[in-house]
Order: sequence, then structure tokens, then C-alpha cells
Amino acid sequence: MLNVPTLWAAFVINFLALGLIWAYIFHSYPSLEAARYWTGSAFAAVAAALIGMAASFEQSLLLLSFAGTAAISASCLLAMGVRQFYGEPVRWRQMAAITAFAFAGFQVFTFGYASANGRILIYSAGLILPMLLALNLLLQRRDGRINAGARLAGFVAMAIVAICALRAVSKLLQAGGDFNFLHFNAPQAVMVLALIFLSMVCNFGFLLMAMDRLRNEVADLALMDDLTGVGNRRQLLQRLTEECARSDRSKQPFALLVIDIDNFKTINDTHGHAAGDACLQHFTLMAQTRLRPGDLLARTGGDEFCIMLPASTLREGAVIARRIIEVCREDAAGCVGNEVPLSVSVGVAQWTRDVGAFPDRLIAAADHALYVAKKEGRDRFSVYEPVPTLVPDIAPMRLQA
Ligand code: GH3
Ligand code: MG
Repeated sequence: MLNVPTLWAAFVINFLALGLIWAYIFHSYPSLEAARYWTGSAFAAVAAALIGMAASFEQSLLLLSFAGTAAISASCLLAMGVRQFYGEPVRWRQMAAITAFAFAGFQVFTFGYASANGRILIYSAGLILPMLLALNLLLQRRDGRINAGARLAGFVAMAIVAICALRAVSKLLQAGGDFNFLHFNAPQAVMVLALIFLSMVCNFGFLLMAMDRLRNEVADLALMDDLTGVGNRRQLLQRLTEECARSDRSKQPFALLVIDIDNFKTINDTHGHAAGDACLQHFTLMAQTRLRPGDLLARTGGDEFCIMLPASTLREGAVIARRIIEVCREDAAGCVGNEVPLSVSVGVAQWTRDVGAFPDRLIAAADHALYVAKKEGRDRFSVYEPVPTLVPDIAPMRLQA
């Protein structure tokens, strides 16, 4: 049968490995703040096991109470990591109160009113409570789904809660013999091994959550324009393809605006490339404030932007185009000193049956309208009026212009 030092040693080695892995992850990805709490949790568990080992050698209940408190603080840190991961405020005070209350309870049930049952109840409640608080966050649906790692960690946390509760109940009923951290009996040893195993799996779930988060961050970067922070051409094409497919099924139109800054080369030549970059960023901010949630602003090239307006007609697209031109005019009128006035030309097009599921046809139509706005003198917008399908030969020519 496994003896007590072997079990404690297994505990220490496993959590030491986990702590080192989380520390390495936090060092490599400092933005993943939750890793800091999970590192702390693993090292607190190591401390708990080391003190527990010393307690069993010394047969000291005082040391055992320190070990129990360290184990509870490990559970608290684990729950704090989950809150941090999901951007919820980390409840330091609540967790410190659980730990302090447990420590005080251990002292009362050791030196005041000596009761092993009291101690085991305090210990189990201290471990279970933070887990239950974390469970709610782990098993919440986000974007209509539960992340695979969160689901794994959530189910494992439920199993840990069940084991801790079972152990407490068995202790109270003396059902599994005398459960005691100073002398493990066989069922106690099996439970400790199960807890080590489940804690490893729970941390593996956290690792999957972290990987998913980091992968999503990379995917977001691939769809973002690094100068202005809005979507890039790839994002626009992705969203346009989805929107065209939706409109092709529902026959509900949407609008696309293609915007090009007027005489941008001259701005670059006169004020320098850095001033040109600042203009692009400034325009992005101005345009973004004129959009609804769900509209997409993307930078598709040097000084060219697109705005996709879901569930909008040509007329609504024209209203937005006018607003953007006006905001640029107002901004230019207020320019002083070295500030660079800018104006834009806009081409507006609307999804039609001719566009179908092909976004490039819609882009070509909006581009054609932009070309007209530029030709007519800039600082204005033009709408692409689809040619009635009664003239079948002309429509495709205009779309490809
Ligand atoms: P038009 O009114 O006909 O649009 O004239 P334009 O001078 O704006 O001509 P065009 O749109 O073709 O010019 C785009 C210029 O944008 C050319 C290029 O030097 C500049 N450009 C492209 N990318 C960047 C960038 O990231 N930063 C800056 N500052 N300039 C850029
Ligand atoms: Mg331009």
C-alpha cells in the first residue's frame, strides 16, 4: 500500500511541475494575467503538501492547520485566475476572507474545541467554495458555445467538489474508517491520488483555454490593419462573402461604401509620410463614430477604406456617405497651424440580385461609383445605380468597370 510520504511526494512533484509550467507560460505571455494566479495556486499547493508532509512526520496538528490553510489558498488562487481570465474583477478580499476564516476555524477546532469533524468541515468548505464560484464562469456560454478547455476544467472542478464533499461526509459518518491527514488509510490514499489526478486535468483545461485565447488573438491580428486598428482587406472580404451569401438567400440588400482620401499623395509630399499616417488614423476615428454597431470599417489599401452596412439600402448608404464627407469638411474647417485638412470621395453601391454571392461584383460597382465621384471633382459621393436587367449586356460591363 502507498505510504504517507510517497503520497505527499507525488503531490509535491506534480504541483511543482505545474507551477513551473505556468510560470514559464506567464513569462512567455505576460498578457495572460491568469497564468500568474495559476502559478501561485500550484506553488501554494506545493507548500501545502510540504507542510503536510512535515506535519505527518512531526505528528503536529498545528503544522497540519498551516497545510490546510495553504491548500485553501491554492483553491482561492485558482478561482481568482479563472475570474482574471474572463476579465471579471478579482475578488482579493473575498478570497482572503475565506482563507483567514479557515485558518481561524482550524485553530478553534484544534486548540479551543478540539474536533476532527470540525476541522474536516472547515477544510472541505474552504476548498469547495472557491471552486463553486469559479464553476459559474467556466460553464457559461460565450458566443453561443462553451470553450472545450473550460468545459473540461468545469467538469473536473465539479468532480473535485464531489470528492471533497464525499470525504467530509465519510469523515462525519466514519464510513471509510478514520480519515486523517496524519495517517492515510486506503480509501483516503485513493482519494488523494484522485485529487492529484483531477487537479492535473483541471490545469490541462486551463491550458487549453489559454491556447484558445492566444490563438484567437493571433487570428484577430490577421484580420486587423496595424496602422489604424480597424479591419483589413481580408476581414472585409470575409464579412462581404458572408453578407452576400446571406442576401443571396434572403434577398435583403446591404450597402457598401468605398472611400478614398483626396490628393493623399500631395499630403504625403507636403507634410511627410508620418503626417500622412496620422491623417489615416484621424480619418478612421472620425468615420468610426458615424457608424452603428455591426457596421464594418476596413482599410483596404493605402488611402482606401470600405464601410459595409448590413441591412441597409442604397439610400441609407448615401446618408452615411454624406455624413462622412460632412464630418471631414467640418474637421478641415477647424484645422489650425500644422493640422492637415482632408477630404474624401465616396462610392456607394447596394447588393442586388446581379451581385449574388460574389463580393467582387459589389466592390467593382462601388469602385465604379467612386471613380465617378473623383471625376466629378472629389469631396463628394456618387451612387452606383444598377442598370435594369432588361439590358443584359450592359450590366456585367458596368459591374466590371
Ligand atoms: P486621388 O484624389 O485621386 O485619390 O489622389 P491621391 O493622391 O490620393 O492618389 P492615390 O489615392 O492613388 O494615392 C495613394 C497614396 O497613398 C500613394 C501612397 O504613397 C500613399 N500611401 C499608401 N499607403 C500609405 C501609408 O500607409 N501611409 C502613408 N502615409 N501613405 C500611404
Ligand atoms: Mg486617394
